[in-house]
Amino acid sequence: MTLLITGGAGYIGSHTVLEFLSTGRDVLVLDNLCNSAQESLARVASLTGRTPGFIQGDVRDRATLDALFTQHQIEGVVHFAGLKAVGESVRQPLSYYDNNVAGTLTLCQAMADAGVFRLVFSSSATVYGTPAHVPIDENCPLGQPTNPYGRSKAMVEHILQDLATSDPRWAIALLRYFNPVGAHASGQIGEDPHGIPNNLLPYISQVAVGRLPQVSVFGSDYPTVDGTGVRDYIHVVDLALGHLAALDYLQAHSGTHIWNLGTGTGYSVLQMIHAFEAACGRTIPYQLAPRRPGDIAACWADAQKAAQELGWTAQRDLAQMMADTWRWQSGNPNGYPDSPTK
Ligand code: NAD
Ligand code: UDP
Repeated sequence: MTLLITGGAGYIGSHTVLEFLSTGRDVLVLDNLCNSAQESLARVASLTGRTPGFIQGDVRDRATLDALFTQHQIEGVVHFAGLKAVGESVRQPLSYYDNNVAGTLTLCQAMADAGVFRLVFSSSATVYGTPAHVPIDENCPLGQPTNPYGRSKAMVEHILQDLATSDPRWAIALLRYFNPVGAHASGQIGEDPHGIPNNLLPYISQVAVGRLPQVSVFGSDYPTVDGTGVRDYIHVVDLALGHLAALDYLQAHSGTHIWNLGTGTGYSVLQMIHAFEAACGRTIPYQLAPRRPGDIAACWADAQKAAQELGWTAQRDLAQMMADTWRWQSGNPNGYPDSPTK
């Protein structure tokens, strides 16, 4: 039996493919490489000594999906494929709804017709909007996402819940990621963002390596420990391992299951900059700047439900997140050689 991983060449996907291969599972990746490089999977193969199957194709392409489900015995699907840049989603909403919402619909239709009903979906803490309280647990009401990307995640969550209600054969995990950072400890695979990074840690690490001059700290007057925004940063390998635990759980539990994947601890922007300085041994220049529109002050997870039901907790601390990010960034200052961004 084979596991289908859509978007498996991307940042979180490649780390998850590596962990599944390491446990002996057979993996088939479907990725259109719109935001990733096939080199990530070549490196996963050399790290694990096992080569994942790879199909360059689109989750919106029903014929590709039908052929794939006919040719392989698929036991379940981990669905990462989608677009994720918040600012771009405001400029190109149709592209986001098409890839993220329509792509998931096409995938689910093909799965149902092929008799495959186990699905792990990449959702996001963005579905909570401005949280009523922190830490955020899974019963926290969903907020109003402020952009098409966030709305696409909330829409897919509703669609998948309706699907599981309609047919008891479905077993679906909605994994609400907090802020994924870090890289595999080998420094061989990591995050390779397109253009100037939107997210904090890739930005800091590109400043450290000399690709960007300084970090702008968006907001210094939030009601937080030092006035800067607080987030729950989670090591991407811990996040990847959460997918293994979720898939195992679905083997014995149908219906929809929601888990926060976070550490339960928040760090401010300035704490992140100083922790990265300690990891790389360099000074990170920064300037205080106005708040970024749409940002919230603080957000971190209550991750107890995943601990109780999945037996999963994040193990890697902030120092390791920073050391691993730096190993990847300093060893690969321009990311993967065949990245579409080059
Ligand atoms: P990524 O861009 O590195 O990976 C996504 C992968 O999907 C890429 O390899 C891309 O080429 C592929 N892809 C995109 N559209 C596709 C399509 N239509 N058909 C086939 N392949 C397609 O992003 P990531 O950070 O690894 O994120 C993976 C998932 O996790 C996404 O769904 C994202 O929205 C979600 N997520 C990410 C974060 C984060 O901060 N990185 C946070 C919460 C949720
Ligand atoms: N941030 C920042 N400078 C940057 C990028 C991000 O100060 O160049 C801050 C941002 O305001 C937030 C935190 O870092 O408080 C995390 O931002 P990111 O975009 O990484 O994640 P998200 O906003 O999606 O939680």
